[in-house]
Amino acid sequence: MSDCIFCKIINGDFGTEFVYENEYAVVFKDINPKADTHLLVVPRLHVESLNELDDEELLGKLMMTVKAVTKKLGLNSYRTVINTGKEAGQEVFHLHIHILKGNIKL
Ligand code: AMP
Ligand code: ZN
Repeated sequence: MSDCIFCKIINGDFGTEFVYENEYAVVFKDINPKADTHLLVVPRLHVESLNELDDEELLGKLMMTVKAVTKKLGLNSYRTVINTGKEAGQEVFHLHIHILKGNIKL
């Protein structure tokens, strides 16, 4: 999607550093961190929210990406959050999984 900020990040438009990436997803730091460590796991495919994702394999790959990046960073205790829909606090309508650790304010 041309007007989607996360699609632009994935496309490299802002030169965002990826903490981790694979065939299915990229992981980068949240620009407004709500914990000491606050990362976003973002599928390369534009899907608005969990409500629009019916691909079980991709869902599994995204959770495996959470495991891979946390293992890479040595995080064995962390919180994952998926906001689905405006009323739940979703602000960016490109599915993403928050990874949070330390002084979590979310
Ligand atoms: P949500 O409220 O679940 O949609 O989360 C969206 C998250 O994206 C928020 O925590 C924002 O701080 C974060 N965010 C928005 N724009 C950027 C950006 N350009 N780079 C990194 N994180 C961003
Ligand atoms: Zn997008």
